[in-house]
Amino acid sequence: MTDTTSFLAPTPHDVRDALTARMPEHRADLEALVRIPSVSAAGFDPAEVRGAAGAVRDLLAARGFDHTRLLDVEGSHPAVAADHLRAGRDAPTVLLYAHYDVQPPGDRAGWTSPAFSPTERDGRLYGRGAADDKAGIMVHVAAVDAWLASRGHLPVNVKVLIEGEEETGSAHLGQFLEAYAEELRADVIVVTDSTNWKVGVPTLSYLLRGLIDCVVEVRSLDHALHSGMYGGPVPDALTGLVKLLAELTDGHGAVAVPGFSDDARPPTPAERERLAALDFDEQAFRGEAGMLPGVELTGDPDAHVLERIWMRPTATIIGIDAPSVAEASNTLVPAARAKLSLRLAPGQDPQRAQQVLALWLREHAHWGLHVDVFPGASAGAFVADPQGPAFEAAERALSAAFGKPVVYQGVGGSIPFIEPFSEAFGGAPALLTGVEDPDTRAHGIDESLHLDDWYRACLAEAYLLAELAATRWEREGR
Ligand SMILES: [Zn+2]
Repeated sequence: MTDTTSFLAPTPHDVRDALTARMPEHRADLEALVRIPSVSAAGFDPAEVRGAAGAVRDLLAARGFDHTRLLDVEGSHPAVAADHLRAGRDAPTVLLYAHYDVQPPGDRAGWTSPAFSPTERDGRLYGRGAADDKAGIMVHVAAVDAWLASRGHLPVNVKVLIEGEEETGSAHLGQFLEAYAEELRADVIVVTDSTNWKVGVPTLSYLLRGLIDCVVEVRSLDHALHSGMYGGPVPDALTGLVKLLAELTDGHGAVAVPGFSDDARPPTPAERERLAALDFDEQAFRGEAGMLPGVELTGDPDAHVLERIWMRPTATIIGIDAPSVAEASNTLVPAARAKLSLRLAPGQDPQRAQQVLALWLREHAHWGLHVDVFPGASAGAFVADPQGPAFEAAERALSAAFGKPVVYQGVGGSIPFIEPFSEAFGGAPALLTGVEDPDTRAHGIDESLHLDDWYRACLAEAYLLAELAATRWEREGR
Protein backbone atom coordinates (compact mmCIF):
# COMPACT_ATOMS: atom_id res chain seq x y z
CA MET A 1 0.00 0.00 0.00
CA THR A 2 2.98 2.30 0.36
CA ASP A 3 2.84 3.39 -3.27
CA THR A 4 -0.93 3.78 -3.24
CA THR A 5 -2.37 7.25 -2.95
CA SER A 6 -5.69 7.54 -1.22
CA PHE A 7 -7.88 10.56 -0.81
CA LEU A 8 -10.13 11.43 2.02
CA ALA A 9 -13.55 11.56 0.43
CA PRO A 10 -15.56 14.52 1.70
CA THR A 11 -18.13 13.23 4.15
CA PRO A 12 -21.35 13.22 2.09
CA HIS A 13 -23.83 15.11 4.28
CA ASP A 14 -26.73 14.79 1.86
CA VAL A 15 -26.29 11.01 1.87
CA ARG A 16 -26.22 11.02 5.66
CA ASP A 17 -29.41 13.10 5.82
CA ALA A 18 -31.19 10.75 3.40
CA LEU A 19 -30.14 7.79 5.53
CA THR A 20 -31.30 9.40 8.75
CA ALA A 21 -34.67 10.28 7.27
CA ARG A 22 -35.24 6.70 6.14
CA MET A 23 -34.22 4.92 9.38
CA PRO A 24 -37.80 4.47 10.65
CA GLU A 25 -38.66 2.60 7.44
CA HIS A 26 -35.51 0.48 7.69
CA ARG A 27 -36.43 -0.30 11.27
CA ALA A 28 -39.89 -1.49 10.17
CA ASP A 29 -38.31 -3.63 7.44
CA LEU A 30 -35.88 -5.13 9.97
CA GLU A 31 -38.75 -6.01 12.30
CA ALA A 32 -40.66 -7.65 9.45
CA LEU A 33 -37.63 -9.84 8.72
CA VAL A 34 -37.23 -10.77 12.40
CA ARG A 35 -40.86 -11.97 12.45
CA ILE A 36 -39.99 -14.70 9.93
CA PRO A 37 -38.52 -17.68 11.85
CA SER A 38 -35.92 -18.48 9.18
CA VAL A 39 -34.09 -21.15 11.17
CA SER A 40 -31.85 -23.04 8.73
CA ALA A 41 -31.13 -25.98 11.06
CA ALA A 42 -32.57 -29.41 10.26
CA GLY A 43 -35.93 -30.05 11.90
CA PHE A 44 -37.24 -26.49 11.35
CA ASP A 45 -39.68 -25.57 8.59
CA PRO A 46 -37.73 -24.92 5.36
CA ALA A 47 -40.73 -23.02 3.97
CA GLU A 48 -40.00 -20.25 6.49
CA VAL A 49 -36.42 -20.05 5.23
CA ARG A 50 -37.60 -19.77 1.64
CA GLY A 51 -40.18 -17.21 2.72
CA ALA A 52 -37.44 -15.09 4.27
CA ALA A 53 -35.39 -15.37 1.07
CA GLY A 54 -38.36 -14.05 -0.91
CA ALA A 55 -38.86 -11.21 1.57
CA VAL A 56 -35.21 -10.17 1.28
CA ARG A 57 -35.38 -10.32 -2.52
CA ASP A 58 -38.48 -8.11 -2.55
CA LEU A 59 -36.88 -5.67 -0.13
CA LEU A 60 -33.76 -5.34 -2.31
CA ALA A 61 -35.95 -4.75 -5.37
CA ALA A 62 -38.01 -2.11 -3.55
CA ARG A 63 -34.82 -0.27 -2.53
CA GLY A 64 -33.52 0.05 -6.05
CA PHE A 65 -31.24 -2.95 -6.59
CA ASP A 66 -31.15 -4.54 -10.04
CA HIS A 67 -31.31 -8.24 -10.97
CA THR A 68 -32.77 -9.36 -7.64
CA ARG A 69 -32.82 -13.15 -7.68
CA LEU A 70 -32.57 -16.35 -5.67
CA LEU A 71 -29.49 -18.52 -6.14
CA ASP A 72 -29.97 -22.23 -5.56
CA VAL A 73 -27.75 -25.24 -5.56
CA GLU A 74 -29.09 -28.75 -5.15
CA GLY A 75 -30.33 -29.33 -1.62
CA SER A 76 -29.44 -25.88 -0.27
CA HIS A 77 -31.48 -23.09 1.21
CA PRO A 78 -31.47 -20.32 -1.42
CA ALA A 79 -29.18 -17.31 -1.28
CA VAL A 80 -30.44 -13.92 -2.42
CA ALA A 81 -28.40 -11.90 -4.90
CA ALA A 82 -28.78 -8.51 -6.52
CA ASP A 83 -26.56 -5.79 -7.94
CA HIS A 84 -26.25 -2.18 -8.98
CA LEU A 85 -23.52 -1.97 -11.61
CA ARG A 86 -23.83 1.51 -13.05
CA ALA A 87 -20.80 3.32 -11.63
CA GLY A 88 -18.62 2.67 -14.67
CA ARG A 89 -15.69 0.40 -15.43
CA ASP A 90 -13.16 2.48 -13.52
CA ALA A 91 -15.08 2.29 -10.27
CA PRO A 92 -14.36 -0.68 -8.02
CA THR A 93 -16.91 -3.45 -7.52
CA VAL A 94 -17.90 -4.17 -3.94
CA LEU A 95 -19.60 -7.39 -2.80
CA LEU A 96 -21.82 -6.85 0.25
CA TYR A 97 -22.46 -10.01 2.29
CA ALA A 98 -24.85 -10.88 5.10
CA HIS A 99 -27.10 -13.86 5.91
CA TYR A 100 -30.85 -14.11 6.50
CA ASP A 101 -30.96 -17.49 8.25
CA VAL A 102 -30.91 -17.61 12.04
CA GLN A 103 -30.10 -19.95 14.89
CA PRO A 104 -32.92 -21.88 16.60
CA PRO A 105 -34.56 -19.87 19.39
CA GLY A 106 -33.52 -22.32 22.12
CA ASP A 107 -35.66 -22.44 25.23
CA ARG A 108 -38.58 -20.22 24.19
CA ALA A 109 -39.73 -19.84 27.79
CA GLY A 110 -36.38 -18.23 28.63
CA TRP A 111 -36.99 -15.22 26.34
CA THR A 112 -38.15 -12.02 28.05
CA SER A 113 -40.24 -11.23 24.94
CA PRO A 114 -41.00 -13.88 22.26
CA ALA A 115 -38.03 -14.70 20.02
CA PHE A 116 -39.79 -13.83 16.78
CA SER A 117 -41.69 -10.77 18.05
CA PRO A 118 -39.20 -7.87 17.80
CA THR A 119 -39.46 -5.73 20.93
CA GLU A 120 -37.57 -2.59 21.97
CA ARG A 121 -36.27 -2.15 25.51
CA ASP A 122 -33.70 0.42 26.65
CA GLY A 123 -32.43 1.28 23.18
CA ARG A 124 -32.08 -2.33 22.11
CA LEU A 125 -34.24 -4.36 19.73
CA TYR A 126 -34.77 -7.90 21.04
CA GLY A 127 -35.48 -10.90 18.81
CA ARG A 128 -33.76 -13.85 17.14
CA GLY A 129 -31.83 -12.46 14.18
CA ALA A 130 -32.43 -8.83 15.23
CA ALA A 131 -28.64 -8.52 15.23
CA ASP A 132 -27.25 -11.76 13.69
CA ASP A 133 -27.62 -11.09 10.90
CA LYS A 134 -30.82 -9.43 9.75
CA ALA A 135 -29.43 -6.11 10.99
CA GLY A 136 -26.46 -6.78 8.69
CA ILE A 137 -28.79 -7.16 5.70
CA MET A 138 -30.39 -3.83 6.58
CA VAL A 139 -26.98 -2.11 6.81
CA HIS A 140 -26.40 -2.95 3.14
CA VAL A 141 -29.93 -1.93 2.17
CA ALA A 142 -29.75 1.35 4.10
CA ALA A 143 -26.33 2.35 2.75
CA VAL A 144 -27.27 1.77 -0.89
CA ASP A 145 -30.69 3.35 -0.44
CA ALA A 146 -29.18 6.49 1.09
CA TRP A 147 -27.09 7.07 -2.05
CA LEU A 148 -29.90 6.32 -4.47
CA ALA A 149 -32.35 8.52 -2.54
CA SER A 150 -29.98 11.49 -2.31
CA ARG A 151 -27.90 11.29 -5.51
CA GLY A 152 -29.71 8.82 -7.75
CA HIS A 153 -26.52 6.81 -8.26
CA LEU A 154 -23.85 4.85 -6.37
CA PRO A 155 -20.15 5.85 -6.27
CA VAL A 156 -19.10 2.20 -6.77
CA ASN A 157 -20.49 -0.90 -8.44
CA VAL A 158 -22.28 -3.04 -5.90
CA LYS A 159 -23.18 -6.71 -5.76
CA VAL A 160 -25.01 -8.14 -2.79
CA LEU A 161 -25.18 -11.72 -1.52
CA ILE A 162 -27.45 -12.69 1.37
CA GLU A 163 -26.79 -16.30 2.35
CA GLY A 164 -29.37 -18.74 3.74
CA GLU A 165 -27.32 -21.38 5.50
CA GLU A 166 -24.55 -19.56 7.35
CA GLU A 167 -25.81 -20.73 10.72
CA THR A 168 -25.54 -24.37 9.68
CA GLY A 169 -21.94 -24.04 8.54
CA SER A 170 -22.61 -23.16 4.86
CA ALA A 171 -22.84 -26.83 3.96
CA HIS A 172 -23.18 -26.22 0.19
CA LEU A 173 -20.48 -23.58 -0.05
CA GLY A 174 -18.26 -25.66 -2.36
CA GLN A 175 -21.01 -26.15 -4.97
CA PHE A 176 -22.09 -22.57 -4.49
CA LEU A 177 -18.60 -21.27 -5.16
CA GLU A 178 -18.35 -23.38 -8.30
CA ALA A 179 -21.70 -22.18 -9.64
CA TYR A 180 -21.61 -18.49 -8.74
CA ALA A 181 -18.08 -17.24 -7.96
CA GLU A 182 -17.74 -15.67 -11.40
CA GLU A 183 -20.99 -13.72 -11.27
CA LEU A 184 -20.24 -12.53 -7.72
CA ARG A 185 -16.64 -11.50 -8.46
CA ALA A 186 -15.61 -8.23 -6.80
CA ASP A 187 -12.57 -6.12 -5.88
CA VAL A 188 -13.44 -5.99 -2.20
CA ILE A 189 -15.85 -7.88 0.07
CA VAL A 190 -17.76 -6.24 2.90
CA VAL A 191 -19.06 -8.77 5.42
CA THR A 192 -21.45 -7.28 7.96
CA ASP A 193 -21.81 -10.18 10.36
CA SER A 194 -19.44 -9.49 13.21
CA THR A 195 -19.30 -7.61 16.47
CA ASN A 196 -17.87 -4.35 17.70
CA TRP A 197 -15.33 -4.37 20.50
CA LYS A 198 -17.68 -2.33 22.68
CA VAL A 199 -20.84 -0.30 22.16
CA GLY A 200 -19.89 2.84 20.23
CA VAL A 201 -16.43 1.59 19.22
CA PRO A 202 -16.02 0.99 15.48
CA THR A 203 -14.28 -2.31 14.90
CA LEU A 204 -12.75 -4.26 12.05
CA SER A 205 -12.38 -7.99 12.63
CA TYR A 206 -9.36 -9.47 10.88
CA LEU A 207 -9.29 -12.98 12.28
CA LEU A 208 -11.92 -15.72 12.64
CA ARG A 209 -11.51 -19.24 13.96
CA GLY A 210 -12.38 -22.29 11.89
CA LEU A 211 -14.98 -24.85 12.88
CA ILE A 212 -15.69 -28.56 12.73
CA ASP A 213 -18.52 -30.52 14.25
CA CYS A 214 -19.46 -34.17 14.51
CA VAL A 215 -21.82 -36.59 16.23
CA VAL A 216 -20.26 -39.43 18.20
CA GLU A 217 -22.35 -42.48 19.07
CA VAL A 218 -21.37 -45.10 21.67
CA ARG A 219 -23.07 -48.53 21.89
CA SER A 220 -22.56 -51.32 24.40
CA LEU A 221 -25.63 -53.58 24.29
CA ASP A 222 -28.35 -54.58 21.86
CA HIS A 223 -31.04 -53.80 24.43
CA ALA A 224 -31.43 -52.04 27.79
CA LEU A 225 -30.81 -54.11 30.94
CA HIS A 226 -31.89 -54.03 34.60
CA SER A 227 -29.08 -52.08 36.27
CA GLY A 228 -29.27 -54.17 39.43
CA MET A 229 -29.31 -57.57 37.77
CA TYR A 230 -26.45 -56.78 35.35
CA GLY A 231 -24.71 -53.58 36.57
CA GLY A 232 -21.11 -54.14 37.57
CA PRO A 233 -19.69 -56.48 34.95
CA VAL A 234 -21.80 -55.14 32.06
CA PRO A 235 -20.88 -51.63 30.84
CA ASP A 236 -23.50 -49.07 29.84
CA ALA A 237 -23.07 -46.78 26.85
CA LEU A 238 -23.87 -43.52 28.62
CA THR A 239 -21.12 -43.91 31.23
CA GLY A 240 -18.79 -44.92 28.39
CA LEU A 241 -19.72 -41.81 26.39
CA VAL A 242 -19.23 -39.53 29.37
CA LYS A 243 -15.78 -41.00 30.11
CA LEU A 244 -14.77 -40.54 26.48
CA LEU A 245 -16.02 -36.94 26.35
CA ALA A 246 -14.27 -36.11 29.62
CA GLU A 247 -10.92 -36.89 28.03
CA LEU A 248 -11.43 -34.49 25.11
CA THR A 249 -10.08 -31.71 27.33
CA ASP A 250 -7.38 -31.47 29.99
CA GLY A 251 -7.74 -30.21 33.56
CA HIS A 252 -7.73 -26.59 32.34
CA GLY A 253 -10.38 -27.29 29.71
CA ALA A 254 -7.95 -27.04 26.77
CA VAL A 255 -8.20 -29.56 23.89
CA ALA A 256 -6.29 -32.69 24.94
CA VAL A 257 -6.56 -34.86 21.80
CA PRO A 258 -2.94 -35.73 20.94
CA GLY A 259 -1.77 -34.18 17.67
CA PHE A 260 -5.00 -32.25 17.17
CA SER A 261 -3.38 -28.83 17.59
CA ASP A 262 -0.08 -29.61 15.86
CA ASP A 263 -0.86 -27.50 12.79
CA ALA A 264 -2.16 -24.50 14.77
CA ARG A 265 0.17 -21.57 14.18
CA PRO A 266 1.08 -19.24 17.04
CA PRO A 267 0.26 -15.51 16.84
CA THR A 268 2.65 -13.35 14.81
CA PRO A 269 4.34 -10.41 16.55
CA ALA A 270 1.93 -8.03 14.77
CA GLU A 271 -1.06 -10.04 15.96
CA ARG A 272 0.24 -10.01 19.53
CA GLU A 273 0.73 -6.25 19.29
CA ARG A 274 -2.83 -5.65 18.07
CA LEU A 275 -4.14 -7.90 20.84
CA ALA A 276 -2.15 -6.11 23.53
CA ALA A 277 -3.38 -2.71 22.26
CA LEU A 278 -6.97 -3.51 23.29
CA ASP A 279 -8.26 -2.39 26.68
CA PHE A 280 -9.25 -5.86 27.88
CA ASP A 281 -10.89 -5.97 31.31
CA GLU A 282 -11.31 -9.46 32.74
CA GLN A 283 -14.02 -8.44 35.20
CA ALA A 284 -16.08 -6.80 32.46
CA PHE A 285 -15.55 -9.86 30.28
CA ARG A 286 -16.83 -12.14 33.05
CA GLY A 287 -19.86 -9.90 33.44
CA GLU A 288 -20.67 -9.87 29.71
CA ALA A 289 -20.34 -13.64 29.60
CA GLY A 290 -22.64 -13.97 32.61
CA MET A 291 -20.19 -16.22 34.50
CA LEU A 292 -21.43 -17.14 37.96
CA PRO A 293 -19.38 -16.10 41.01
CA GLY A 294 -16.37 -18.37 41.57
CA VAL A 295 -16.52 -19.97 38.11
CA GLU A 296 -12.99 -20.05 36.66
CA LEU A 297 -11.79 -19.15 33.17
CA THR A 298 -10.76 -22.21 31.18
CA GLY A 299 -8.10 -22.92 28.55
CA ASP A 300 -4.32 -22.54 28.61
CA PRO A 301 -3.68 -20.30 31.65
CA ASP A 302 -0.45 -19.02 30.06
CA ALA A 303 -2.30 -17.58 27.04
CA HIS A 304 -4.08 -14.20 27.07
CA VAL A 305 -7.85 -14.66 27.36
CA LEU A 306 -8.33 -13.09 23.92
CA GLU A 307 -5.71 -15.37 22.41
CA ARG A 308 -7.65 -18.32 23.83
CA ILE A 309 -10.82 -17.11 22.10
CA TRP A 310 -9.32 -16.02 18.79
CA MET A 311 -6.30 -18.20 18.16
CA ARG A 312 -6.56 -21.45 20.09
CA PRO A 313 -8.64 -24.53 19.31
CA THR A 314 -11.41 -25.41 21.69
CA ALA A 315 -13.78 -28.37 22.15
CA THR A 316 -17.36 -28.03 23.34
CA ILE A 317 -20.05 -30.67 23.89
CA ILE A 318 -23.20 -29.03 22.54
CA GLY A 319 -25.78 -31.81 22.92
CA ILE A 320 -26.31 -35.30 24.29
CA ASP A 321 -29.02 -37.82 23.34
CA ALA A 322 -29.69 -40.05 26.33
CA PRO A 323 -32.72 -40.76 28.51
CA SER A 324 -33.95 -37.55 30.16
CA VAL A 325 -33.86 -37.30 33.94
CA ALA A 326 -37.66 -37.34 34.00
CA GLU A 327 -37.80 -40.57 32.03
CA ALA A 328 -34.80 -42.26 33.60
CA SER A 329 -35.28 -45.80 34.91
CA ASN A 330 -32.83 -48.13 36.63
CA THR A 331 -31.43 -49.57 33.44
CA LEU A 332 -28.09 -49.86 31.70
CA VAL A 333 -28.41 -47.58 28.67
CA PRO A 334 -27.45 -49.49 25.49
CA ALA A 335 -26.59 -46.49 23.25
CA ALA A 336 -25.96 -42.77 23.67
CA ARG A 337 -24.65 -40.00 21.44
CA ALA A 338 -23.29 -36.49 21.65
CA LYS A 339 -22.68 -33.60 19.28
CA LEU A 340 -19.25 -31.99 19.49
CA SER A 341 -18.31 -28.56 18.20
CA LEU A 342 -14.65 -27.65 17.88
CA ARG A 343 -13.23 -24.27 16.93
CA LEU A 344 -9.96 -24.25 15.01
CA ALA A 345 -6.96 -21.94 15.28
CA PRO A 346 -5.34 -20.23 12.28
CA GLY A 347 -3.28 -22.77 10.36
CA GLN A 348 -5.40 -25.79 11.25
CA ASP A 349 -6.63 -27.87 8.32
CA PRO A 350 -10.31 -28.71 8.97
CA GLN A 351 -10.13 -32.03 7.06
CA ARG A 352 -7.14 -33.10 9.10
CA ALA A 353 -8.87 -31.99 12.31
CA GLN A 354 -11.94 -34.12 11.50
CA GLN A 355 -9.74 -37.16 10.82
CA VAL A 356 -7.58 -36.79 13.92
CA LEU A 357 -10.64 -36.33 16.11
CA ALA A 358 -12.62 -39.25 14.63
CA LEU A 359 -9.65 -41.61 14.93
CA TRP A 360 -9.05 -40.60 18.53
CA LEU A 361 -12.73 -41.04 19.45
CA ARG A 362 -12.80 -44.54 17.93
CA GLU A 363 -9.54 -45.63 19.51
CA HIS A 364 -10.16 -44.22 22.97
CA ALA A 365 -13.47 -45.80 23.81
CA HIS A 366 -13.26 -47.69 27.09
CA TRP A 367 -14.07 -51.38 27.54
CA GLY A 368 -14.30 -52.18 23.83
CA LEU A 369 -17.46 -50.11 23.36
CA HIS A 370 -18.54 -49.55 19.77
CA VAL A 371 -18.04 -46.00 18.54
CA ASP A 372 -19.33 -44.38 15.36
CA VAL A 373 -18.39 -40.86 14.32
CA PHE A 374 -20.46 -38.83 11.85
CA PRO A 375 -18.56 -35.74 10.65
CA GLY A 376 -20.54 -32.53 10.02
CA ALA A 377 -19.57 -28.98 9.11
CA SER A 378 -15.97 -27.95 8.54
CA ALA A 379 -14.37 -24.61 7.74
CA GLY A 380 -10.90 -23.19 8.11
CA ALA A 381 -9.93 -20.05 10.02
CA PHE A 382 -9.82 -16.69 8.26
CA VAL A 383 -6.90 -14.37 8.82
CA ALA A 384 -6.46 -11.03 7.05
CA ASP A 385 -3.46 -8.77 7.06
CA PRO A 386 -5.39 -5.59 7.81
CA GLN A 387 -3.39 -3.21 5.64
CA GLY A 388 -3.82 -1.58 2.27
CA PRO A 389 -6.28 0.82 0.65
CA ALA A 390 -9.47 -1.10 1.45
CA PHE A 391 -8.69 -1.18 5.17
CA GLU A 392 -7.64 2.48 5.10
CA ALA A 393 -10.93 3.39 3.43
CA ALA A 394 -12.83 1.39 6.05
CA GLU A 395 -10.94 3.08 8.88
CA ARG A 396 -11.90 6.53 7.57
CA ALA A 397 -15.54 5.60 7.02
CA LEU A 398 -16.00 3.90 10.38
CA SER A 399 -14.26 6.58 12.40
CA ALA A 400 -16.26 9.32 10.65
CA ALA A 401 -19.55 7.56 11.44
CA PHE A 402 -18.73 6.62 15.04
CA GLY A 403 -16.60 9.65 15.94
CA LYS A 404 -13.91 7.36 17.34
CA PRO A 405 -10.81 5.61 16.00
CA VAL A 406 -11.18 2.06 14.71
CA VAL A 407 -9.92 -0.90 16.73
CA TYR A 408 -8.84 -4.24 15.27
CA GLN A 409 -9.93 -7.48 16.85
CA GLY A 410 -10.16 -11.21 16.29
CA VAL A 411 -13.38 -13.15 16.69
CA GLY A 412 -13.73 -16.67 18.02
CA GLY A 413 -16.64 -17.48 15.71
CA SER A 414 -16.58 -18.65 12.10
CA ILE A 415 -17.98 -17.38 8.78
CA PRO A 416 -17.21 -20.11 6.22
CA PHE A 417 -18.02 -17.88 3.20
CA ILE A 418 -15.16 -15.41 3.54
CA GLU A 419 -11.97 -17.37 2.96
CA PRO A 420 -12.95 -19.33 -0.21
CA PHE A 421 -14.63 -16.35 -1.90
CA SER A 422 -11.79 -13.96 -1.09
CA GLU A 423 -9.46 -16.54 -2.61
CA ALA A 424 -11.66 -17.03 -5.68
CA PHE A 425 -11.50 -13.27 -6.27
CA GLY A 426 -7.70 -13.32 -6.38
CA GLY A 427 -7.21 -12.47 -2.70
CA ALA A 428 -9.72 -9.61 -2.62
CA PRO A 429 -9.63 -7.88 0.78
CA ALA A 430 -12.51 -8.75 3.09
CA LEU A 431 -13.71 -6.04 5.46
CA LEU A 432 -15.49 -7.63 8.39
CA THR A 433 -17.67 -5.09 10.16
CA GLY A 434 -20.25 -5.51 12.87
CA VAL A 435 -23.66 -4.69 14.20
CA GLU A 436 -23.21 -6.68 17.40
CA ASP A 437 -21.65 -5.72 20.73
CA PRO A 438 -20.54 -7.79 23.72
CA ASP A 439 -24.08 -7.87 25.15
CA THR A 440 -25.83 -8.90 21.91
CA ARG A 441 -26.09 -12.59 22.89
CA ALA A 442 -26.10 -13.76 19.28
CA HIS A 443 -27.27 -17.41 19.12
CA GLY A 444 -28.48 -17.09 22.75
CA ILE A 445 -31.66 -16.28 24.64
CA ASP A 446 -32.62 -12.58 24.45
CA GLU A 447 -30.48 -11.73 21.41
CA SER A 448 -30.62 -7.99 20.82
CA LEU A 449 -29.38 -5.16 18.63
CA HIS A 450 -28.05 -1.86 20.00
CA LEU A 451 -30.11 0.54 17.84
CA ASP A 452 -27.73 3.52 17.94
CA ASP A 453 -24.80 1.34 16.92
CA TRP A 454 -26.91 -0.08 14.12
CA TYR A 455 -27.54 3.45 12.82
CA ARG A 456 -23.81 4.21 13.01
CA ALA A 457 -23.05 0.97 11.14
CA CYS A 458 -25.47 1.97 8.36
CA LEU A 459 -23.88 5.41 8.17
CA ALA A 460 -20.37 3.95 8.13
CA GLU A 461 -21.24 1.76 5.18
CA ALA A 462 -22.75 4.68 3.27
CA TYR A 463 -19.47 6.55 3.83
CA LEU A 464 -17.45 3.45 2.96
CA LEU A 465 -18.91 3.36 -0.55
CA ALA A 466 -17.58 6.91 -1.08
CA GLU A 467 -14.21 6.09 0.47
CA LEU A 468 -13.78 2.99 -1.70
CA ALA A 469 -14.65 5.04 -4.79
CA ALA A 470 -12.03 7.65 -3.85
CA THR A 471 -9.30 5.06 -3.34
CA ARG A 472 -6.80 4.44 -6.08
CA TRP A 473 -6.59 0.70 -6.48
CA GLU A 474 -3.86 -1.72 -7.31
CA ARG A 475 -6.10 -3.94 -9.36
CA GLU A 476 -3.65 -6.25 -11.10
CA GLY A 477 -4.55 -9.87 -10.65
CA ARG A 478 -8.13 -9.11 -9.71
ZN1 LIG B 1 -24.07 -14.40 11.71
